[in-house]
Amino acid sequence: MAFEYAPAPESRSIVDIKPSYGLFIDGEFVDGRGTSFKTINPATEETLAEVAEASEADVDLAVKAARRAFRGWSRMSGKERAKYLFRIARILQERGRELAVLESIDNGKPIKESRDVDVPIVAAHFFYYAGWADKLDYAGLGPNPQPLGVAGQVIPWNFPLLMLAWKIAPALACGNTVVLKPAETTPLTALLFAEICQQADLPPGVVNIVTGAGSTGQAVVGHPDVDKVAFTGSTDVGKAIARAVAGTDKKVTLELGGKAANIVFDDAPIDQAVEGIVGGIFFNQGHVCCAGSRLLVQESVADEVLSRLKRRMGTLRVGDPLDKNTDIGAINSAEQLARIRELSDIGESEGAERWAPPCDLPSSGFWFPPTIFTGVTQAHRIAREEVFGPVLSVLTFRTPAEAVEKANNTPYGLSAGVWTEKGSRILHMASQLRAGVVWANTFNKFDPASPFGGYKESGYGREGGRQGLAAYLKGADL
Ligand code: NAD
Repeated sequence: MAFEYAPAPESRSIVDIKPSYGLFIDGEFVDGRGTSFKTINPATEETLAEVAEASEADVDLAVKAARRAFRGWSRMSGKERAKYLFRIARILQERGRELAVLESIDNGKPIKESRDVDVPIVAAHFFYYAGWADKLDYAGLGPNPQPLGVAGQVIPWNFPLLMLAWKIAPALACGNTVVLKPAETTPLTALLFAEICQQADLPPGVVNIVTGAGSTGQAVVGHPDVDKVAFTGSTDVGKAIARAVAGTDKKVTLELGGKAANIVFDDAPIDQAVEGIVGGIFFNQGHVCCAGSRLLVQESVADEVLSRLKRRMGTLRVGDPLDKNTDIGAINSAEQLARIRELSDIGESEGAERWAPPCDLPSSGFWFPPTIFTGVTQAHRIAREEVFGPVLSVLTFRTPAEAVEKANNTPYGLSAGVWTEKGSRILHMASQLRAGVVWANTFNKFDPASPFGGYKESGYGREGGRQGLAAYLKGADL
């Protein structure tokens, strides 16, 4: 018998979305000198707010404010800086529900993820780096660690607040000041974070938030008085940024795309592996750089894994991101939906077999059902390109060597998953897989103490952990 779920929507009355937002520069919200753009709710296509598009002149003001603030902030003792970071972390927890609801409205992700994953890890990141602020001498990153100066940071839309935390927390802990540009489709939680900086009495100019699209991002990374560029986003834009900063003294970290293999051996606990496959690709609508978008399943268990996977996919609930029952929310933008549709259609025309469970999609907003492709070969574009949506390509293998060869046959190298009951096999696979993170019998697990980053076209540099400090200190390359 099929279960009927009564809707359980989270109230949005806790968030106060203003009709328009300015830029956060030097501790205050100011009008931009450029134009403005709309941010919409991808689940309903309702306009949420009008947001300032920072011009080059606005970015210049923000960088100047960050430079002025750097003098005081970098000379402040680590212990004092830590007090501000701890205060921000506590406010993030106190205002967690508000942040989660706003993130789900602006991004489309299910409330159970923004509430139970994004916001708790955001707060944990600030707590973690607050703890390092007065212990930099003991981080093993060389004697007398010194901050770089002003960091220009540009982030994507898939984890708006979490990517902000990954960027701002280590930068501030090390004594840098920042100018951060959120993605154009998800600016609202960064602007709420700016309010939290005011509430925490953070000295003006230590954090500046400039909203806008690619040209604002270009102005941030290209500004001559920026000492450090930290970018998370697509590989194409990452390459353009690497070219733009080549020949300057700017220190750069790039966190780019991925096409992770999730490898299931025949001795794996199948039900747990199926949960890991589902979490690996359908978490956050598959808008995850480290998503397990290629399932490599050992041939002898492929039929069993696929039939259990299809049964499990039939229970996933797609719909209102604010409903606490929702497993898969809205696709973040019309543009992203078009890309997912295009690559999926190409998958079919290249000969792969497409399957999705029956599912009623809402009539307005941007939606895509959880989908798998079987009969996929390594040459298919759906096996090679990042779809960045709830679409899984299934390939099979016979031997561990074949699994390694297929898993590594990608221009990316961000993450991988291994499902087996043998510890020795986990160690062997981890040593062979060319991926920054390898999860064993789990997937998409994040901890602020654990460094994250890629090989090859997935970028360079690490975020999180002691390694994450190195990106914001002079001469500290790990
Ligand atoms: P994107 O590259 O289109 O945009 C990312 C950010 O860069 C946005 O803020 C955008 O406005 C800005 N931007 C665009 N053009 C720019 C330019 N020329 N100069 C400076 N800034 C510019 O990526 P997206 O579509 O927002 O995000 C999805 C991508 O992000 C995926 O490829 C995903 O894998 C990647 N990602 C990687 C990680 C990681 O840690 N490796 C994490 C999350 C997302």
